[in-house]
Amino acid sequence: MKAKDLYSPRPKYMAKSGCSFILVELLLLQCLSHLTISFGQGYDFFYFVQQWPGSYCDTKKSCCYPTTGKPPANFTIHGLWPNYNNGSYPSNCNADSPYNATKISDLLGKMEVDWPTLACPTNDGTRFWTHEWEKHGTCSETVLDQHSYFEAALNIKNKVNILKVLEDAGIKPDDTFYKERQIREAIKAGIGYTPAITCNTDPTKNRQLSEIYLCVDASGKDLIECPKFPNRCKRPPLQFPIF
Ligand code: AMP
Repeated sequence: MKAKDLYSPRPKYMAKSGCSFILVELLLLQCLSHLTISFGQGYDFFYFVQQWPGSYCDTKKSCCYPTTGKPPANFTIHGLWPNYNNGSYPSNCNADSPYNATKISDLLGKMEVDWPTLACPTNDGTRFWTHEWEKHGTCSETVLDQHSYFEAALNIKNKVNILKVLEDAGIKPDDTFYKERQIREAIKAGIGYTPAITCNTDPTKNRQLSEIYLCVDASGKDLIECPKFPNRCKRPPLQFPIF
């Protein structure tokens, strides 16, 4: 065989199919890298969910203050939840990774303030944090180990002072009623990202501001616009209860 034969240019009729072959290869490569990313990390973004303790306590089932005492009148963390862009979410991803307080001993003081339990009977928070880690935290463990997970949530809480943003916009926890849109727009104006507001019902059937969802990128560091919103509570106006 002559060298010329080995290196002969591709015949003209092959040019097009060669081109589409390269395109298919590129597409496959892109798909593969996408799959690696989603398998590697197993979720697309986080919901960072804060709750208003006044609403949590003002329900039929009521609440119990933690053993450390009544939490300050501020939004508190409910959780940092890995989520998929389609709205579904993974849960309880690793039974071999139990909550371990000794891994986060340096964070516990801050968690008592920013992530307090309000469940009854009164307790120190271990049950709530165990639930949040085992149900949600284990599903982002490839990116955030237990310490980084709780720290990431505390850091985001520290970055955005929702109560101040709302109070600056004249929205105060004084039992007044506010439109969901008013609350949502005040937060968007104050922090630059659109929240989702959920509500609950008090014993006299008033709708009240329950939780505020923000979205965080898969690294757990930066706020993003939500790829998907949970069902928000649009009307009627929501009470912002005293705590
Ligand atoms: P999740 O499964 O992460 O959606 O959390 C729901 C569970 O967390 C329910 O059992 C709630 O009662 C509980 N929960 C929500 N907020 C608190 C809180 N502040 N303290 C204790 N438990 C809570």
